[in-house]
Amino acid sequence: MKKETKILHSIEPDLLTGAISTPIYQTATFVQDSPGVHRGFDYGRTNNPTRAVLEKLIATLENGSHGFAFASGLAAIDAVIKLLNSGDQIVAVDDLYGGTWRTLNHIYNRLGIQLVRVDCSDIRNLKASVTDKTKLIWIESPTNPTLKIADIKEISLIAQEIGALLVVDNTFASPILQNPIDLGADIVIHSATKYLAGHSDLIAGLVVTRNSELAEQIKFIQNSSGAILGPFDSWLTIRGIETLALRVHKQCDNAELVAQFLASHPLVKRVNYPGLSTHPNHEIAEKQQSRFGAMISFSLKTDSVDAGSIVCSSTTLFKLAESLGGVKSLICQPALMTHKSIPQDVRHAAGIDDSLIRISCGIENADDLIDDLKQALNKI
Ligand SMILES: *Cc1c(COP(=O)(O)O)cnc(C)c1O
Repeated sequence: MKKETKILHSIEPDLLTGAISTPIYQTATFVQDSPGVHRGFDYGRTNNPTRAVLEKLIATLENGSHGFAFASGLAAIDAVIKLLNSGDQIVAVDDLYGGTWRTLNHIYNRLGIQLVRVDCSDIRNLKASVTDKTKLIWIESPTNPTLKIADIKEISLIAQEIGALLVVDNTFASPILQNPIDLGADIVIHSATKYLAGHSDLIAGLVVTRNSELAEQIKFIQNSSGAILGPFDSWLTIRGIETLALRVHKQCDNAELVAQFLASHPLVKRVNYPGLSTHPNHEIAEKQQSRFGAMISFSLKTDSVDAGSIVCSSTTLFKLAESLGGVKSLICQPALMTHKSIPQDVRHAAGIDDSLIRISCGIENADDLIDDLKQALNKI
């Protein structure tokens, strides 16, 4: 069965009533038949039938065996970090999502978990950085905001060799384009806030694994820490996922055309998009993704914060906002928004130019999106 079909038909009609739309079980507790004897559900933090449908759905989509839904992407990330012990080390991609970096650097560092960041687009950097303390390798591919690509399969072999777990934050690709578990990852994370829910209307996070021992530990952490996704947001996420394949393919169609337009524009210095043959790891992206995604970043020949600001403030269809993956196109300037707290020299070293602009292509008409960028670039 192909993915589009599998998504829709792995959401079963409600067993109790036949409802084709998953019911929202808005309840805190479940009445037991006799003390300790219940129908699979005892308390809403531990389990909920609506959340259970979402958890099964994401496990199916990522070719895993167990899924877990959390109150945000960062709550999902937090649960996975809690698999570690004080004294353990995490080796991660250098342009890690800012929130992941913040929790590792400001909270878990204090609790004795050390973070080492390396540019994983060259596997030799990673090989040189792992030690016997490395218990987790943390990858994003493509990364934010420079769209670097890491070879997930090669990295999974390194993880296996040193006995570390490989975690892949698959938010940017979505399960339509890339399935890290098939490439050797132990754990996949999503900020479901982005492509999965897809309408910029909620905050949610998901974790998937195919390893039942790991699943048991994650379930224990989910229940013990309690950052679960509520029934209504679980339902909205299920509803969003029903159209995931349609949306992501249209978004990729748009991004491919927008990237070509930007690459040929005289005021644009560089376009970061894994689908362009000029991308340094284009071949790896082609090998591990079915398409190249709908995130693009680009910098301007006039590389100043002001020039970038003019473009970001002049688009009308691309709305100026953080976040990504929704049906409406978004634009942002990392140097002034998501990456403002990072010192300029560190930012530059990571390839985040002052004028760098990141866009998330939505499902509008591609010609309209290109016209919008064209008139905004003319304002410089
Ligand atoms: C947004 C995002 C997160 C955090 O998710 P929230 O739902 O905002 O908590 C983690 N990783 C990546 C790659 C993201 O884009």
